[in-house]
Amino acid sequence: MLIEANELSKTYGQGEGQVVALDKASLQIAAGDFISIIGPSGSGKSTLLHLLSGLDRPTSGRLTYDGQEIYRLKDRELAAFRRRRIGFIFQQFNLLPVLTAQENIMLPLLLDKRRPDEAWLRQLAALLGLGDRLQHLPHELSGGQQQRVAIARALITQPEVIFADEPTGNLDSKSGGEVMTMLLDIWRRLGKSLVVITHDSRIAQMAPRRLAIVDGQLAEVSR
Ligand code: ADP
Ligand code: MG
Repeated sequence: MLIEANELSKTYGQGEGQVVALDKASLQIAAGDFISIIGPSGSGKSTLLHLLSGLDRPTSGRLTYDGQEIYRLKDRELAAFRRRRIGFIFQQFNLLPVLTAQENIMLPLLLDKRRPDEAWLRQLAALLGLGDRLQHLPHELSGGQQQRVAIARALITQPEVIFADEPTGNLDSKSGGEVMTMLLDIWRRLGKSLVVITHDSRIAQMAPRRLAIVDGQLAEVSR
């Protein structure tokens, strides 16, 4: 799979209050790439990740997945595309509080009217050290465990690419380290593309390919 972003821009507001959150960002992501994008707060990291994953639409620019222009899809088609092909991990976990860990993980499949894949669930739970936590509610889990549930939820549909927006931003350094170790392990084992956004240089260094974003301008740091 190849994801190609071509001069993606996002502007908020009008006139004097206008903010250029992202300024003509171009990027190619190949199958199996692990890319980190580092930048300070307010530099446009989340904006970029939301555009790359079809969670939002740009003011201008193009995005293709294997040549398919995804912003041409209607909102409902885009949501279905996202559910099937993309995994997204949020800084704030975004688990539903009334559902157990297992129900949260399975939710993307239910929304897509797909059959629960019990074997894949068990494999993911083992990879993420969640085996004995699946029947718990989110508030009964630590932050690190909640984020691991969120990672399993992102992977349950077998997406080709995973986007993570400051996945350790709400965790202490120990559980943040565990989450990153597991994400790396999953990337190595499963051969997915992984794009991690961070303001932490230690996390950025884990990726073979690194980019930086400052004031909405994206640049390659190393490859
Ligand atoms: P980061 O994730 O790097 O902290 P963001 O992508 O969230 O940065 O934001 C980039 C810039 O765009 C910031 O100046 C932010 O205030 C602005 N911004 C983000 N979302 C909105 C919005 N919905 N309305 C107005 N401005 C926004
Ligand atoms: Mg952000």
